[in-house]
Amino acid sequence: MSSPGTGSEAIETIAVIGAGTMGHGIAQVAAAAGFRVLLNDVDRDSLARGVSAIESNLAKGIQRGKLTEEERDRTLQQIHGTTNLQSCATSDLIVEAAPEKLELKKEVLRQLESASDHPFIFASNTSSLSITEIASSSKRPDAVIGMHFFNPVHIMKLVEIVVGKETSTATVDTVKSVGLRMRKEPIVVKDVPGFASSRLGVVLGLEAMRMFEQGVASAQDIDTAMELGYNHPMGPLKLTDLVGLDVRLNIAEYLHRELGSEAFRPPEVLRRMVSEGKLGKKTGEGFYDWSKEDARRASS
Ligand code: NAD
Repeated sequence: MSSPGTGSEAIETIAVIGAGTMGHGIAQVAAAAGFRVLLNDVDRDSLARGVSAIESNLAKGIQRGKLTEEERDRTLQQIHGTTNLQSCATSDLIVEAAPEKLELKKEVLRQLESASDHPFIFASNTSSLSITEIASSSKRPDAVIGMHFFNPVHIMKLVEIVVGKETSTATVDTVKSVGLRMRKEPIVVKDVPGFASSRLGVVLGLEAMRMFEQGVASAQDIDTAMELGYNHPMGPLKLTDLVGLDVRLNIAEYLHRELGSEAFRPPEVLRRMVSEGKLGKKTGEGFYDWSKEDARRASS
């Protein structure tokens, strides 16, 4: 590929940076769509966990009759794990799913650009950071964009495409068509703090935490109010446990600073739980106790 064209056919290889909650899911849907995938993580154990999470998602897909064994094998064959970031720099599209830290994302982009002259598109999966700001570290800001997936990636249909000040129309078109090939529903959103989804979703989660903190109701009952009263498929506290309390705290701090609204001030209970290492499902405890679920899974 000599330059980023405008269609998913211009993309053969997708690198996913970070193999955590989001990265492994993005790698899975990219591979299932037929792209060659490099899955990268700085940490060897996290990379191994990411690959086994993909295997387990695919095994569940077979059990539910959503996928054949051949499709599983084809998907897994497309995925190549690596801890070497530089080797990802010749990919056509790089989807960054490293932790929600602006400097870290800019540094990853700088390192990739200095490793190769290949004209890749850099798509950040950031939940809230400014794409224009991330692009400021790039030599080709027209090829920097947001590609915001939702958790769990292989199930959630939405991909929010975030257009920075200098993002080109060609980049938007290519990423949109990649999203469609991954069987997602793309929406195109201006680069404003929190975009369309996080800004609304985070404020609901923070208010639910404040209500929990004030003893208005139990976590379960607050969630049930939204699930049964408003037809949300999942209550805001359970969703926070799945997203990760640390991830939510980072986003809330950022939106509080950027939008200047008290609605985004992180509640004390969130800060305390994060400092105690209660990060939600990934650590076994958050607003709910997830350790029993792990035990159930291990014995089944
Ligand atoms: P996570 O902590 O589960 O995973 C991040 C992974 O990145 C870890 O495995 C870590 O080892 C790895 N990593 C750290 N530094 C790295 C580097 N320099 N190079 C390569 N890998 C590195 O985080 P996550 O929940 O998957 O979030 C990733 C991004 O996706 C964040 O920007 C977050 O805001 C966004 N996001 C998260 C969710 C969610 O529900 N968790 C939803 C949408 C978007």
